[in-house]
Amino acid sequence: MSESNQDQHYVIIGAGQAGAEVASSLRKRGFEGRITLIGEEQAPPYRRPPLSKAYFSGDATGDSLFVMKPEQLEKARIDFIGGVAVTAIDPAAHTVALADGRSIGYDRL
Ligand SMILES: Cc1cc2nc3c(=O)[nH]c(=O)nc-3n(C[C@H](O)[C@H](O)[C@H](O)COP(=O)(O)OP(=O)(O)OC[C@H]3O[C@@H](n4cnc5c(N)ncnc54)[C@H](O)[C@@H]3O)c2cc1C
Repeated sequence: MSESNQDQHYVIIGAGQAGAEVASSLRKRGFEGRITLIGEEQAPPYRRPPLSKAYFSGDATGDSLFVMKPEQLEKARIDFIGGVAVTAIDPAAHTVALADGRSIGYDRL
């Protein structure tokens, strides 16, 4: 990816494993612009498969379930907005509306 993407803002809806992998892959592939990851759940992105297995059987700690912990999100310069749903997308205006009334602009969604 070229340096011309520095002014770009990519927004990802859904802070599950897929959303976190997209965000982290963008950085690994050289995307230098702004990344915002929006999730309805308060928790940073976590893996669900071990939740009903290793975690409940006591073989894994809650901490180990995270795909990206808050400090990793910060290090990768991924803005995480948790605990709020996206309620509408306006592709013409390039904005997403959040349940708390905020509107966030994007270049790519
Ligand atoms: C308990 C459990 C155990 C599992 N075990 C296995 C397994 O052993 N093997 C296996 O292959 N799969 C398993 N799965 C399924 C696997 O976890 C899912 O396939 C995987 O989590 C999908 O990841 P995802 O990021 O695509 O979607 P999700 O994990 O569903 O993440 C989507 C995220 O987007 C958020 N979201 C949705 N809409 C909005 C919105 N409008 N605004 C903001 N946020 C939004 C949701 O809150 C959610 O956090 C399991 C699932 C669960 C729940």
